[in-house]
Amino acid sequence: MTAKLIKGKEIAEQIRAEIKQDVDSLKSEKGITPGLVTILVGENPASQSYVRAKQKTAHDLGYYSVQDNQPADISEEDLLALIEKYNQDEKIHGILVQLPLPKHVDEGKVLYAIDPDKDVDGFHPVNVGRMVVGEPAYLPCTPYGIQQMLIRSGTQTEGAEVVVVGRSNIVGKPIANMLLQKGEGANATVTLCHTRTKDLATHTKRADILIVAAGVPKAVTADMVKPGAVVIDVGVNEVGKTEEGKRILVGDVDFEPIKEVASAITPVPGGVGPMTITMLMLNTLQAAQKA
Ligand code: NAP
Repeated sequence: MTAKLIKGKEIAEQIRAEIKQDVDSLKSEKGITPGLVTILVGENPASQSYVRAKQKTAHDLGYYSVQDNQPADISEEDLLALIEKYNQDEKIHGILVQLPLPKHVDEGKVLYAIDPDKDVDGFHPVNVGRMVVGEPAYLPCTPYGIQQMLIRSGTQTEGAEVVVVGRSNIVGKPIANMLLQKGEGANATVTLCHTRTKDLATHTKRADILIVAAGVPKAVTADMVKPGAVVIDVGVNEVGKTEEGKRILVGDVDFEPIKEVASAITPVPGGVGPMTITMLMLNTLQAAQKA
């Protein structure tokens, strides 16, 4: 058996087409254009490229998009004041502060300063709390994208054994929480694993749906996967460069052999990655619709 590929790139395109339609009607019926600001502090090349991609997508979808670049030595006080300015700006519905921030700035303080109603990254504790108790919230973009991939690929989550490898605040913990909620694309029985988990394979081998966000190439090998499982590989690991200087990326699972065991699997690149920015756009659209 060779696994079906769950192509995030195609699912993301589908969702973007739906967003575009909604943006057009929001503009024509209510005169509202979704507004997104991305704040970039310093000149980290990876952050610059993420922010460029977010701005380009926002622009392509017809958003009002602002890229606000700040020097690496901006004071915490000035950054907090800048966020407050965007909190008050009626044209801006979503505020994204690109992480990581320089060491002299308290990341927590900055994220907490964003108005929860404009927190389209879904990292503010108010939104995290709403998600955990099952109230409407801005969902963090990567887990939200994973859930949409499961729904749109026809993967049954209800009653499924889901095993998540990785307990970060941006992927592991939120996706585990989202999948155990009551509702569509959820109602699963969830196990969350990490580096202190005893005998990881005993858990992963039980999974109908295995979600791996460890940040380690080949953290999961074929002998750790139940035949017929659906495998979602969140990892993005650079393992070298091509002769042309392009980054060579691999995920967290041993793709080729697992493809022969699983029933479906996400590729890297072209899997979870393209979903993340798309869900950021969907959150921003929803913020504009609420406004
Ligand atoms: P992270 O903050 O480094 O967390 C990694 C988690 O995996 C930790 O909880 C760690 O356990 C656990 N872990 C690491 N190695 C393990 C192992 N061998 N067995 C069991 N658990 C293990 O990483 P992250 O931010 O969640 O990101 C994870 C991966 O996803 C990275 O490759 C990242 O680049 C990628 N990512 C992709 C997207 C996307 O849009 N595609 C978005 C976000 C992240 P401990 O807590 O015990 O240390």
